[in-house]
Amino acid sequence: MLVDDYDAFLVDLDGVVYVGDEPIPGAVDAIERLRERAIPVRFVTNNSSRTRDEIRTKLAGMGIDASRREIVSAAWATGEYLRDRGLETVSVVGTGSLRAELERGGVVVADDAVDAVVVGHDDTTDYADLTRATRLVHRHDVPLVAVNADAVVPQPDGPIPGVGAIASAIETATNRTATVIGKPERRLFDYALASLETASVAMIGDTPAADVAGASRAGIDAILVTAHAVRSTDGPTPDATISGLADLFEE
Ligand SMILES: [Mg+2]
Repeated sequence: MLVDDYDAFLVDLDGVVYVGDEPIPGAVDAIERLRERAIPVRFVTNNSSRTRDEIRTKLAGMGIDASRREIVSAAWATGEYLRDRGLETVSVVGTGSLRAELERGGVVVADDAVDAVVVGHDDTTDYADLTRATRLVHRHDVPLVAVNADAVVPQPDGPIPGVGAIASAIETATNRTATVIGKPERRLFDYALASLETASVAMIGDTPAADVAGASRAGIDAILVTAHAVRSTDGPTPDATISGLADLFEE
């Protein structure tokens, strides 16, 4: 069984545990079986619009009891990054939940005298937000931080522009390159791996360009989930391919 090859797993959420608000068949049971075996799990998600507690509530509604420590979201990791770098005050293009998560991590959210401008996903972002971000970067000569680099966010009726697209607009307007926290950059993986005491870890995800490429950069194996892939993009070859989480336990 593939599950026997590793001591811990980093598990992507969208396209692996759920699609939208629907749990993927077999996923909840597979997480439960990992728990029974006392195999550590970290849910590693590029989500930039929700707090970890909101993600925990969503998982709880599906029957998965996850601790805050187990949720390694790009929004939370952005707060850790800002604090590590001494970037104490930031302006945010993103949701109220992203602001709340950053503030919970000890970062001050303001639109004056900032140390950085942070970009997350918010489907109400408008031209005024782009203008504010652009002017703050110009005025204070501060770095631009993108919570992830996702080109699009899948929706039932088709994709909408993701953080990468919005950050690109601000990058062009400011002639700067954003620092990316989420997958496929290794920062998010490093935060997840730092909380695990094992070297034998695999990332389980559905997006080659984010999950498999990121695992490769972080120096761990990648298992690609294919049945409910939210996006199909080109990327490196995974170490194993499964239909869904239940296949971890296939003989
Ligand atoms: Mg995914």
